[in-house]
Amino acid sequence: MRFETLAVHAGHSPDATTGAVAPPLYLSTTFERAGDGSFPAGFVYIRDANPNRRRLEECLASLEGGAVCAAFPSGMAATHAIFQTLAPGDRVLLPEDAYYATSQIVRELLGRWGLRGDTVDCTDLDAVRRALETPSRLVWIETPSNPRLRITDISAVSELAHRAGALVVCDNTWATPALTRPLSLGVDLVMHSTTKYFGGHSDVQGGAVIARVEDRVFQSVRLAQTLAGGVPSPFDCWLIRRGAQSLAARLRVHCENAAIVARFLTGHRAVSAVHYPGLSSHPGHAIAARQMAAFGGMLSFEVAGGRSAAMAAAGRLRVITRATSLGGTESLIEHRASIEGAHTRAPEGLLRMSVGLEHPDDLTADLDQALGGT
Ligand SMILES: *Cc1c(COP(=O)(O)O)cnc(C)c1O
Repeated sequence: MRFETLAVHAGHSPDATTGAVAPPLYLSTTFERAGDGSFPAGFVYIRDANPNRRRLEECLASLEGGAVCAAFPSGMAATHAIFQTLAPGDRVLLPEDAYYATSQIVRELLGRWGLRGDTVDCTDLDAVRRALETPSRLVWIETPSNPRLRITDISAVSELAHRAGALVVCDNTWATPALTRPLSLGVDLVMHSTTKYFGGHSDVQGGAVIARVEDRVFQSVRLAQTLAGGVPSPFDCWLIRRGAQSLAARLRVHCENAAIVARFLTGHRAVSAVHYPGLSSHPGHAIAARQMAAFGGMLSFEVAGGRSAAMAAAGRLRVITRATSLGGTESLIEHRASIEGAHTRAPEGLLRMSVGLEHPDDLTADLDQALGGT
């Protein structure tokens, strides 16, 4: 079955006892034993497994083309579980523009437990090769990256990492499997913040780890999930599973709108740079064209005049909402440098935009009136 069909049907068969087409929500924390002491439906206790989480995990594994999935209550809980499979003294390589909390987990939380983290420019294969001369256990990929939409060549980095004996993880939150399938490009694990495009409506938080095979690494992720209790509620699973059904359809409009907004901004006199992998001027355009089915719904741009001009333009927006996060139906904009604080690498004039499902003419008109005053 093709992606769109799987998105609708994987983990979404009608309920066997009632015929309900929309899956029932199972709030039960515990499940009855049969007279002989067995558990006929395979469920024992909510933290170990739950029917709604099972359906979500089936769906996500299938959409990423993986064998298994562990669902978490947030993207960061998923990331933390992956790092927990490592041992003190292990070294991980992170992209220098990794999602801010990912590098903070390594730096501020797991550093105390002996995990060592170094950063590398993942878009520079020579730099990755040099960084791998020092033994490393894990290489983290995130593409397109935050906030400048830099593109990493997933298969090239995976090959270098595997040759050096390292595991490869790809944070596929921004591309989603509707656009990029990292497991088919050689990575071992895919991580998601399902809070974003999978949920799709800015109303539920979640995360996931999907593995190509159910090996010892995945078993260790599963143990971190069920033993440490990093599990999403049945309702959160239900919402994210529902969101997944329209993922492919929503992504088509997100991508179309983002391309229109990127083209509009490129020609605007108040804008000094536009970062969108769909633009032929983008340094990662050729790789993105190869490994993405379309160029995504995220972009960023730099307002001429720096921080104060960017803040002022964002302050004048009426349709586009000033808020962090991404992947919902509504367009969001955010000044990354002020949310990331002291260690930020984001240019001061940069605004990041999650392009939503509004009519593109309303988005460009809103940007035009907001930038007009700068
Ligand atoms: C949001 C995000 C995360 C973190 O996910 P949460 O659900 O907020 O914990 C990780 N990586 C990327 C790329 C994200 O956008």
